[in-house]
Amino acid sequence: MKLLVTGGAGFIGSNFVHYILREHPQDEIIIVDVLTYAGNLENLSAVEGNPNYRFVKADITDRAALEPLFQAGVDVVVNFAAESHVDRSILEPDVFVRTNILGTQTLLDLAKQYNIQKFVHVSTDEVYGTLGDTGLFTEQTPLQPNSPYSASKAGSDLLVRAYHETFGLNVNITRCSNNYGPYQFPEKLIPLMIQNALSDKPLPVYGDGLNVRDWLYVEDHCSAIDLVIRKGVNGEVYNVGGNNERTNIHVVKTILQELNKPESLITYVQDRLGHDRRYAIDATKIRDELGWNPKYAYESGIRETIRWYLANLEWMDQVRSGAYQQYYDKQYGER
Ligand code: NAD
Repeated sequence: MKLLVTGGAGFIGSNFVHYILREHPQDEIIIVDVLTYAGNLENLSAVEGNPNYRFVKADITDRAALEPLFQAGVDVVVNFAAESHVDRSILEPDVFVRTNILGTQTLLDLAKQYNIQKFVHVSTDEVYGTLGDTGLFTEQTPLQPNSPYSASKAGSDLLVRAYHETFGLNVNITRCSNNYGPYQFPEKLIPLMIQNALSDKPLPVYGDGLNVRDWLYVEDHCSAIDLVIRKGVNGEVYNVGGNNERTNIHVVKTILQELNKPESLITYVQDRLGHDRRYAIDATKIRDELGWNPKYAYESGIRETIRWYLANLEWMDQVRSGAYQQYYDKQYGER
């Protein structure tokens, strides 16, 4: 199978590339990534030289750059590429609309033109909006996005649906909860807190710290997407969740405990604008219909994650210092 994986140099995309080349060594992967601040080729250094792996630096809104890849033959598109950080979407919503909506539409159009077998679009539970103290998001929950990030993801989901309904494109949408694990850019909660705790810096916690997220270990997410590629029913949406609801403050406290650091490092800061209170996923459909089973409970996943960051301090230092950006500029020219 020949997979075109967009955003493969980012957090989940790079984990997915490692997963596929390990689990399906006969598959071929072409990565398309424009290498924004969140894209890091270091995440893929372990697969460099693998004859079934190729990296192409291109923007998913750039049809002319993408077309030769489709012309050469692609079986499945897996679309991870996105602007993904809610805080940044509050500062610069326009970039989110461009990449997440226009980029997805560009890919869909090429997928349609070149009759690809399947288009898998990786989305988020944030498109469903926010929950109160009870209830779970199902695939039937109406889309009620609250941030420019989630609104742009919801827009892309609707375009995927429209290409299925209008043009008969074979599509699946996955909507997952918060991922964590190796190679996550340290602007996101877990790597940020690990990094700050290791440097004895304050750990900034939004509002009262009681916002609830469901935590999904990234490898479990990758196995879900793999199943959807191979067994997903044409046109279906699949929710993917870890069944690991935790408050943000609980997550921060476990990290401090694991690293033997004092809770006095916790600093409450002004809440994020429009901060969704609780997300929780009902993943019954993908479990029952595709036989997906997550391997990691939160406790084992967070330990594994902390172990990885401790073993990869150089990776963290490079990301923080921006040294890897200089490497790209040298390697690929100024962006
Ligand atoms: P990330 O920010 O780590 O990676 C995104 C990647 O996309 C980067 O490598 C970046 O360079 C690339 N990219 C951005 N704009 C591009 C463009 N215009 N053209 C080509 N490449 C571009 O994101 P992530 O956390 O790995 O998330 C991957 C996908 O999963 C996203 O679509 C996101 O919405 C979704 N998702 C993530 C989470 C999570 O917890 N991280 C949860 C739910 C859904």
